[in-house]
Amino acid sequence: SHLPSIVTYIVIDVNVVESIITSMTAHLQSDLDRETQRSRTIAGAQLSYFAWILENFQFEVLTEYLILSKIVPIRAEPKLFDSYYNGCCNGTFWPLFHSMPDRATFIADHWRAYIKINQEFADKAVHALHLLKADKEKNGNSPPIVWVHDYHLMLAANWIRQKAEELEIKCKLAFFLHIPFPPWDIFRLLPWSDEVLQGILGCDMVGFHITDYCLNFIDCCQRNLGCRVDRKNLLVELGGRTICVRPLPIGVPFDRFVQLAQNAKPVLSTAQKVILGVDRLDYTKGLVHRLKAFERLLEKYPEHIEKVLLLQISVPSRTDVKEYQDLKEEMDQYIYGCVGQDELAAFYRDSAVALVTPLRDGMNLVAKEFVACQINNPPGVLIVSPFAGAGEMMHEALICNPYELDDAAEVIHRALIMPEDERTVRMNHLRRREQLNDVDSWMKSFLKAMDSLEEEADDIG
Ligand code: UDP
Repeated sequence: SHLPSIVTYIVIDVNVVESIITSMTAHLQSDLDRETQRSRTIAGAQLSYFAWILENFQFEVLTEYLILSKIVPIRAEPKLFDSYYNGCCNGTFWPLFHSMPDRATFIADHWRAYIKINQEFADKAVHALHLLKADKEKNGNSPPIVWVHDYHLMLAANWIRQKAEELEIKCKLAFFLHIPFPPWDIFRLLPWSDEVLQGILGCDMVGFHITDYCLNFIDCCQRNLGCRVDRKNLLVELGGRTICVRPLPIGVPFDRFVQLAQNAKPVLSTAQKVILGVDRLDYTKGLVHRLKAFERLLEKYPEHIEKVLLLQISVPSRTDVKEYQDLKEEMDQYIYGCVGQDELAAFYRDSAVALVTPLRDGMNLVAKEFVACQINNPPGVLIVSPFAGAGEMMHEALICNPYELDDAAEVIHRALIMPEDERTVRMNHLRRREQLNDVDSWMKSFLKAMDSLEEEADDIG
């Protein structure tokens, strides 16, 4: 059977497009950070699927629009970009969707910039679809899929649908959110909450990492917009259309990390046991709590002093946003920089414990990459927060509430003294699950879900 075409759009500063693409194809995520903070927009999770697409698919539309100079950039004046990216995306949506409303700003000007950039995205996407239609008419393929990603583009889908309908262009629309979707009593604080929901509901399918986020979204559709909803089958009705909501937990390129771990030279030349943290410097990651938990550990169990080392890699992030500048000041005595994934693989491989304790996190790929890199025998121990999407599924990890310092110290202690056979059993389970549910399988689940939409539509027709 044929593979559908995919049009994916990303927000990017035009000046870095070239370097981004180079690093994308080379899988060097951290190079993005070295180039510019703005490029973070597509780093991390998004980049994994991008690299995956580039490797595995040669759709017309990808060759046409995504590879190298064929990318279609959105050009924004610096001031507009600032209001959009630092203002609305990372000043409003990021904290609010991570259930930290006190950190969120609600500024009408930023919202206007968000609308404008989303409109431009929609225009470019429709233009791409238009070009594609001409081709498709020749060879009669099924409608292309437009897959819109993340909180930067929550309004685009609805405009793409409207314009495509006007131009009689057939397409299927999907949206995926890489961060949490908050509960209604948080979401409703957003002055533009209805518009955001309507924007997303322009799609045929909406994906989130976990079922909780799906249910939050459905709740909001019902309570804000008065939509009819079906919680059991995860459906929302709006304007005579039925929108499917689906949990699609993202994975990591597992085998690639295994390979990196196999080839990476040792970077830890210490006799101490290493407790590893790897995060962007972001207030959602719970870095200050983590340091306090480590301090508590050494107070409670002084036998670990000098035997155990906390190694925290904190990647500079969103340095134009004040909340991030403040956090940097608080954290400044620790490593501030990023490492390439080949080196990262060595850190993952040789650490005794990975401490993944965000206060809130859509998924958290570090937890999964760590697991992939545990090729040593006996393996290390993963500690993960229940407030990360990853904590939801990685049952054999040690679960640690980062807010409860005493308990966090206990959990770290338990990880440090865990017997080898228990470590092995836990890690084997974790690795098997992540290998099965890697980023390839994520993409396949997405395509399968889009296919079954078609079947449903056929049934009705
Ligand atoms: N990362 C990296 N170099 C670093 C630190 C992190 O390449 O020095 C990558 C890491 O491998 C992971 C991503 O950044 O793929 C972080 O993703 P995660 O989901 O954990 O958090 P996010 O930054 O997306 O909130």
